[in-house]
Amino acid sequence: MRILLTGSAGFIGSALASRLADDGHDVLGVDSLREHSASCGLARLRRDGFDTSSESFGLDVERSLRFGSLRFLKCDISDAGRLLDIVLDFRPEKAVHLAACPGVRDSYDDPAGSFSTNVAGFFNVLEVCRRCDVRHLLYASSSSVYGDDLPTPFRETDNCTSPRSVYAATKLCDEALASAFCHSYGLRATGVRMFSVYGPWGRPDMAPMIFVDALTHGMPVELFGGGLQTRDFTYIGDVVESLARLLMLPGSPGEAETYNIGSGCPVPVVEFLSLLEQRLGIRGLHVSSEPKPYETRRTFSDSGKLFGAVGYRPSTPLVKGIDAFVEWYINKRTCVRLR
Ligand code: NAD
Repeated sequence: MRILLTGSAGFIGSALASRLADDGHDVLGVDSLREHSASCGLARLRRDGFDTSSESFGLDVERSLRFGSLRFLKCDISDAGRLLDIVLDFRPEKAVHLAACPGVRDSYDDPAGSFSTNVAGFFNVLEVCRRCDVRHLLYASSSSVYGDDLPTPFRETDNCTSPRSVYAATKLCDEALASAFCHSYGLRATGVRMFSVYGPWGRPDMAPMIFVDALTHGMPVELFGGGLQTRDFTYIGDVVESLARLLMLPGSPGEAETYNIGSGCPVPVVEFLSLLEQRLGIRGLHVSSEPKPYETRRTFSDSGKLFGAVGYRPSTPLVKGIDAFVEWYINKRTCVRLR
């Protein structure tokens, strides 16, 4: 099957691209390699076998970078014309949309940038899917849409109306737009509300990488609100498995669904830090700072709907996931410059 994947140089996108190629699909990944994450993105592309020495990364599908059944093109989803040309050329049967400005903190510092990529960019993706008869779009939403006022665990049927961050608001907009395209034009779209994904090749702006960086460099570890907020940390391998299964699920035109992808085992952030410290054998200096107004106090996934649909839910124990993350950080990260 031909699959278009946006954000394919990202943490989740690059792992999913490899998995889909291993499953025998033709995958065309596109990514802008945006400034904040460009060196990470390039390192992940090299890991997947791409020769990134050419600066241009191909002008069109024919001249895209190739490795086996994986292809890569540099493309900004804000450029609607270029995106349309690529999709008309490649003719994907399905699409996965993961490109985003994914940070809650980034959306606080640069709300316009988040809106432009996460909402206007997503609109462009919906438009090309509609115009090019893409059968199924799987797109990234986020656990942050649940805000802070709902009872836990969070379920897809909860009434999410109070996002705390601009990032969460952009993801709620995406769900509304996807629903409108499904009902109006018969597009089939599946939104995934992922919960604090961690693991090898993770994002440098997320707590696990910030913590391990600080601990291994003898720097103090800053904990907003003392790290008492709880997070449903979910291992990357479990997320990729869930996404791959959801993408292959049969469905009908016009169907708009959302699924939680979370471990269902939330822990306080300070406990996650303590497990990292135990694994590294390093006790860091903890510095508590004011809680951030855009951060939620807790996340907690009910992934029962996911399990009912695909017979699978995230299950990697935190200790095992942290072990794989630290193992990668110590042994492999030294060979790549992630920042
Ligand atoms: P990431 O930053 O590693 O990957 C996103 C990729 O999108 C990057 O490679 C970036 O270069 C690319 N990108 C950004 N703007 C673009 C644009 N305008 N055009 C084309 N490409 C662009 O982030 P991630 O953690 O892999 O997240 C993937 C998706 O999952 C995002 O939509 C994010 O909001 C969502 N999500 C992530 C988490 C998590 O814990 N990592 C949780 C919930 C939801």
